[in-house]
Amino acid sequence: QTTTNLCGTKMAGLTLNQIRKSYGNLEVIKGVDLNIKDGEFIVFVGPSGCGKSTLLRTIAGLEDISGGEMHIGERLINDVRPSERGVAMVFQTYALYPHMTVYKNMAFGLMQAKKPKDEINRRVREAAKVLQIEDYLERTPKALSGGQRQRVAIGRAIVREPDVFLFDEPLSNLDAALRVQTRLEIAKLHERLGTTMIYVTHDQVEAMTLADRIVVLRDGFIEQVGTPQELYDRPANEFVASFIGSPKMNFFDARGDGHKITLAAGGEVQGSQTGAVRVGIRPENLHLGDGQPLLTARLEVVEYLGESTYMHLVTQANEAIIVKSVSHQTPAIGTMVDLCHKGGPVHIFPVS
Ligand code: ADP
Repeated sequence: QTTTNLCGTKMAGLTLNQIRKSYGNLEVIKGVDLNIKDGEFIVFVGPSGCGKSTLLRTIAGLEDISGGEMHIGERLINDVRPSERGVAMVFQTYALYPHMTVYKNMAFGLMQAKKPKDEINRRVREAAKVLQIEDYLERTPKALSGGQRQRVAIGRAIVREPDVFLFDEPLSNLDAALRVQTRLEIAKLHERLGTTMIYVTHDQVEAMTLADRIVVLRDGFIEQVGTPQELYDRPANEFVASFIGSPKMNFFDARGDGHKITLAAGGEVQGSQTGAVRVGIRPENLHLGDGQPLLTARLEVVEYLGESTYMHLVTQANEAIIVKSVSHQTPAIGTMVDLCHKGGPVHIFPVS
């Protein structure tokens, strides 16, 4: 359904129904179903090569699909040309015209669409204001920093007043500090425009901080869809559990007897599963000493991060694990330490 928000911008949900995409014999999108609500900020996340960009490009219309149906609002867009889908895409590489000024880069699409001059001028200046690039309108892209270029690329998308914004790893070419700042600006932009946004990244921190809902992809399939907190607290499987969260969740080989689960590294947790399982506990939910120990491990490396400390240990089953502590007091390297589980969920997954 397409509606209009308070600013007068159109908003639209998006429905993907059994979307498939093959390149020759290679199927890279293997039947994706997804409902994206009006105004939602959706992030596609997953390891390199899982099909995130391909899926985004099929929504943009830059790639044909091999099967399935795609709707924006009520409109079936399978055969609609990219320029008529009401989407605007922002690329990792900015894709600006090097010889045109910033103004012209932003205005170009509207000029081609033969929009009236004063409307083009209004839209470009409004977008420039939102993005704080008003002072650079007469410069060419080479006279801009990477962060400013990416804003121009975003500006070019904004002036088209799309129903859906598509972002393909837009922060990858920026340095770490600028990435954090631009990430925040994209969040504010979404807040301000209220337009549906779909954003591709391999960076789970970007996904966690930006998304209303995250779509975790793996090998052309959706593994799980949920809010950042749902994915963090209730990952559907070991893949999602290991992908979301930093440092990564710890995993232990274990066996269940129907009443309790015994870790190969020693120690027991509750659970009614039988046979081989994997037990997952996040680094912030394991603590040194004090209480009933779950297992014993040898301290190998300590990393001080200021507000917290990461202790890298090896269990008696030779599993590398991490404990995140807020204390700066740590035992000597090489010490065998008792680890307790205090609070926070224990995840039990089938062996994958
Ligand atoms: P991601 O964005 O998750 O890193 P992509 O969507 O870029 O992954 O690619 C998914 C898979 O599709 C990869 O195996 C990639 O090699 C393949 N692929 C992407 N584009 C093409 C193409 N034009 N021709 C053939 N294979 C492609």
